[in-house]
Amino acid sequence: MSVPFLLPCLLADPEPPEGTTVLINARLFDGTGSAPRDGISVTITDGYIAEVSGGVPRESDDARTIDLAGKFLMPGLIDCHTHLTIHAEPHQGEGEEAVRPAVIGHLVGARLREALRMGITTIREVGAFGDTMFEVRQAIRYGAFRAPRLLISGRLVGTSSVQGRHFDGMYREADGPDEMRKAAREQIRAGADFVKIMTTGARSVELENPGPAQMTREEVAAVVDEVHRLGYRVAAHCEGLEGTRLAIEEGVDTIEHGFYLHREPALLEQLAARRGVLVPTLTFLHDVAERKAEQWTPHLVARGAYNVEEAHKTLAAAIDAGVPIAMGWDGEPENMAASELGLMVEAGMEPIDALISATATAAYALGLDDTIGTVEIGKLADLLVVDGDPTETIDILVDEDRIFLVIQGGEPVAGKALGVSPDLRLSR
Ligand SMILES: [Zn+2]
Repeated sequence: MSVPFLLPCLLADPEPPEGTTVLINARLFDGTGSAPRDGISVTITDGYIAEVSGGVPRESDDARTIDLAGKFLMPGLIDCHTHLTIHAEPHQGEGEEAVRPAVIGHLVGARLREALRMGITTIREVGAFGDTMFEVRQAIRYGAFRAPRLLISGRLVGTSSVQGRHFDGMYREADGPDEMRKAAREQIRAGADFVKIMTTGARSVELENPGPAQMTREEVAAVVDEVHRLGYRVAAHCEGLEGTRLAIEEGVDTIEHGFYLHREPALLEQLAARRGVLVPTLTFLHDVAERKAEQWTPHLVARGAYNVEEAHKTLAAAIDAGVPIAMGWDGEPENMAASELGLMVEAGMEPIDALISATATAAYALGLDDTIGTVEIGKLADLLVVDGDPTETIDILVDEDRIFLVIQGGEPVAGKALGVSPDLRLSR
């Protein structure tokens, strides 16, 4: 038997605890698409799910039993789209001391701990400044603190562009297929779990037109070929349809944003047929257009409002076309990521499908569906227990008072069940 290759994110996982824990009397949402079931027991042995059954398993002396008293048990939440260094940056006041670069890593660490407390057990970081995320992940690996499992893109691979200048230190600008291939290799070299490309410009950059494709077909194809050949996945930032088309046709695994796809049903069909994933990121659009409009220029606010409408139409069309949809927050603070699910439901998604988008489909989008994303025998026990039923009121997932228990890799790490000082439990 060969030993499978592990993505860097999994190598940073702590050793699962030895022993058996039995969660009894759960209302189980297992992420497979089945309706929630009551009176279920889940047995965790050495960090992995060993048994899922109706009723209470026979007592064994050395097992720890936790009675969930009908509470909602589900897979841990997975956020497929976030930018932790951007959102950790404090807003500085006039005359305030400049933030020293190393501080950003500490702030990211704090945000990650807060996210884990809300049951977010895995995060895909899709673009950060410098090497901060790699440094944070090393700190996690060597025991500094407990945090969601982190998939990291490394530098964003894009062409010479306004966004590359605007977000100085976040991009690896490259031009031509060979240089693109090299840029992708550099990210793998740095320890990335996947490579993210920028097929179009960004709506958050005033001088940029997100309409035309910024990469050529040959450039997209070169990155996809190289990254897939090496056994990794490709995510693509896609706004205008031309760049989105290149990403879908050239085999990119996850399409980030893709607001205008409802205008091209054939592309949605193509994406659905090869099980490519759409990550809609509604929150950021709503933030620019409404919630945080004061932080943006009038031009960007108007563009944001237009994109909200387009994105809602696209989500509905993607659901109809059968495209796998994964939850990506693209907002801040990270511990509120599940509020994206409320927006998805408002846009017409069934709550149970929204939960699947943040668990099973998210795991699939990340290439981790053999390991996490559902409550099934053989999966790593990343679990969330909620007081209440999110299929009835999805917003309870952003209410910390409702977070009863968070289990990551079989280890209870947060939640009210652990008592009044979850901080202590978050250390190893
Ligand atoms: Zn983003």
